[in-house]
Order: sequence, then C-alpha cells, then structure tokens
Amino acid sequence: MSDIVRRDPRKEWIARNRLHPQHLEVLAELGQGAASEWMGPSGLLRKNPHAVGFIGPNGMKRIDRSGVQQGAAGGGGAAKSAAERKPLVEIEAPAFLVAVVPDMAGGRLTGHDRDLLGLARQLADADPAARGAVLAVVFGEHKEDDFEGAGVDRLLHLTGPEFDGFSPEARLGALVAMDLAWTPRHWLLPDSKLGGADLGRRLAARLGERPATGVWQLEADGEAPLGWRCIARGAAGTLDFQRAVPRLVLALAECAEPVSETRHAAEPLALPEALPSQLSRIQDLGQVAVDPAGVALSEAEFILSAGNGVRDWDAFHRAAEVLGATEGASRVAVDDGFMARDRQVGATGTWVTARVYVAVGISGAIQHLQGIQTCDKVVAINMDPGCDMIKRADLAVIGDSAKVLEALVALVEQSREEKRNAA
Ligand SMILES: Cc1cc2nc3c(=O)[nH]c(=O)nc-3n(C[C@H](O)[C@H](O)[C@H](O)COP(=O)(O)OP(=O)(O)OC[C@H]3O[C@@H](n4cnc5c(N)ncnc54)[C@H](O)[C@@H]3O)c2cc1C
Repeated sequence: MSDIVRRDPRKEWIARNRLHPQHLEVLAELGQGAASEWMGPSGLLRKNPHAVGFIGPNGMKRIDRSGVQQGAAGGGGAAKSAAERKPLVEIEAPAFLVAVVPDMAGGRLTGHDRDLLGLARQLADADPAARGAVLAVVFGEHKEDDFEGAGVDRLLHLTGPEFDGFSPEARLGALVAMDLAWTPRHWLLPDSKLGGADLGRRLAARLGERPATGVWQLEADGEAPLGWRCIARGAAGTLDFQRAVPRLVLALAECAEPVSETRHAAEPLALPEALPSQLSRIQDLGQVAVDPAGVALSEAEFILSAGNGVRDWDAFHRAAEVLGATEGASRVAVDDGFMARDRQVGATGTWVTARVYVAVGISGAIQHLQGIQTCDKVVAINMDPGCDMIKRADLAVIGDSAKVLEALVALVEQSREEKRNAA
C-alpha cells in the first residue's frame, strides 16, 4: 500500500465548519475530536489550544462562548469536578500587582471581564522568576462564585451604599486609595459601555496616566517582562495603533483567552486604611424603565427574535411586551413584511451584543448567526432539534413556538401575581 497521505478537502472543510451537521463526526474520524483537556503525567491539566474556540465564518478564530468546547462554565457536576481537577496556583509573595476592575454586569463576571482577567494573567505571569498577582476589585453585592476559575489571585470586595448604582466618584476614590496603598504595575478595565470605559477614563485623568484604549491584543516585545506592546483600535475602528503597554489599559472583548487551565486563590484583601468619606455630587435616582420596543437593537440587552417559524404574530408581540424584551427578526420575517427592516439581526442587518438572545422559529442560517456571535446566552425555540440555531444555543426548547411562548407568558404572569400577593 502506498505511504502517500491522501487529503480529503471536503472533510477538512467540514472539520473547520463548526456548524456543519457532520462536524463532530468528521472531527472524530480525523482524530481531532479528542478531548481538549487531559491530565498530563505530572498531574497538571493539559490543554490542546487548537481545540479551543472555532474558526468563524470570516476565517478568524473565535472564542467559544457556548461552553460546548470548554466544559460549560457554571454547568453541572461534570463541569464542577473538571474545575476542581485544575491545578491551584497560589502566589504567596507577588512581585507586583495587576489590578482589574471588572464590569460585573448583573452581579457576575461577563465574558468581557473574563477576557480581561486572561489579559491580566499574561502580564502577571510573563516572568516566572518574578510573578505578579491579579487583583480584582469588585464594587457592591455580586452573585459570582468563580473568581478562582477566572484567574483572580486577590479579591478586594468593597460594599456599602456609596458604591451602589451609578457611583463613579466613590469608586474612583477607592481606586485612587488602592493606587496609593499598593501601586499596581497595571490597571486593566473593560473598554465597555457597562461602566468600565467611563471609570477607566476618570481614573486615567485622576492618576495623570495616558491610557491605551480600545486594546484588543498584547504582544511581548523583546524579553518579557521588559517590554509589552499593545495593539489598539482607533479612528472609529478603521486603524490599529501600536504602543508600549502603559500603566492603564482599557481593553475590548476578546482581547485575550479567558483563563481555563488553572484555579487561583482569590484570596480576600482589605484596604489598609478606611476610605475617607466624601461628598458625592451625583445622586443616583435609580433605573428608569424604558420601552424595550424603543431600544436600538445594537444596544439591547435582552432580545426576543422572530423567524419564519412564528405563526401567531400577536402572541409573539405580546410575549415580548410581557418579558420586557426588545424585538428582533430574521431576514425572512422582515422580507415577509411581519417585522420592520430596522429589526433585522444578522450580516446584512444589525450585529447584536445582547446578554440574552431568544431565537423563536429561526433556523440559524450563517448570515443570522454572524449577527449574534457576541451574544452571551442564546436560547432557541424551534421544532427542529437538528437545526443550527439549536447547535449554537446554550438552552434549547423543542416545540411549537406559539405554545412555548404562551406557556412562558403564563409562567411570568403567574410569578408576578404571586409576588404581588406576597407583598
Ligand atoms: C446575502 C445574504 C444576506 C443575508 N443576511 C441575512 C441577515 O442579515 N439576517 C438573516 O436572518 N438572514 C439573512 N439572510 C437569509 C438567511 O440565509 C436565511 O434565509 C434566513 O436567516 C432564514 O430565516 P429563518 O430562520 O427565519 O427561516 P427558515 O430558514 O425558514 O427557518 C424557520 C425555522 O423555524 C422552525 N419552525 C417552523 N415552524 C415552527 C414552529 N411552529 N415553532 C417553532 N419553530 C418552527 C423551523 O424548524 C426552522 O428552523 C441572508 C441571505 C443572503 C443570501
């Protein structure tokens, strides 16, 4: 038999295309479907970096947020025991600190926050002889229980009414006090509209630092830790700039791989001195309810999106109203005249960044999936268990869209009624 290795371009294409129905089958056949994590001979958890993420439709490598490949963060027992198997890294006497101020939208680390912690680890771990520690600063109450898995060595949790709601002055005061007390080598904040961009720029002005904004990558420049350069997006996203990494960095989502191979101590820290009380010039009167129908799709946090599988349009609009969701649509729903053109999600519509995206009767065509690739959690309601939207979804409900929406609305109304009666 000939020793010539024959390539099968079709199979290679399927192996690259995560959405192809035979993707997993072909990966296994090509020997690439092996576990992306395994325990090495030294007891260390090893990871195949090539198995993490997937190649997106434009040929760029994307981070897999669905958890399918990475063991579903926050999932059930298997995910938990996998997390426990990861080696614990403890940094007793760090050479320096890299401080991260995550957005913690909804009280949990966002995908963007985790990317930023991954970036912080790159800076902290660059020199094995003098390792730094990653310090996360969290304001107000939170629901996060995986700071260890996200790469946090030290955790400063500041609570009190002064940090609730929109409180940039109090937060800035605390960060400046931290800077005086510990002088972190770097400050990293998410360059996001959820608060990080605003707080980061305030901190830069107060510390007199010239920050790097819109950073999407760090590169070692010569011998680490002597030099790092950052690549930042500028000129309304049309140009990339390079400069040496400054003390204060505001980074974009996907700036680095989130930490996934190790656990860290997340040891609680306290400020050495009580924070001086300061008069706030801002009074937060709480959140104002807005009509979700009026929210631009690109800014919506919660989207209920309709496709060709929606038959009862009155029921769909009613569900969106009861759930308080912004309405979106597939191109077919728009072309058929059921939804306005400005509601179209996808390659030729709006690219959305919702925290929760519910796709009702949408098959998951590649042009639609492109538009939702940075959504945090995707829920699919569909009759076809094999469709691509179900493969993309974090949670899937197989059933008739009208019946599922009706049951959902009934549950929400019942729960609201119970709360009213209990009050
Ligand atoms: C150049 C180009 C650009 C495009 N740009 C976009 C774009 O930006 N956005 C976009 O969305 N599309 C775009 N498309 C179109 C895209 O290719 C798909 O045709 C479209 O997304 C399909 O819409 P759909 O999923 O709603 O419909 P279908 O593909 O018809 O899917 C309907 C789904 O509903 C399910 N279903 C049926 N009945 C029920 C029921 N009773 N209950 C629950 N589920 C049910 C079916 O199982 C199916 O999965 C573009 C196409 C081209 C060529």
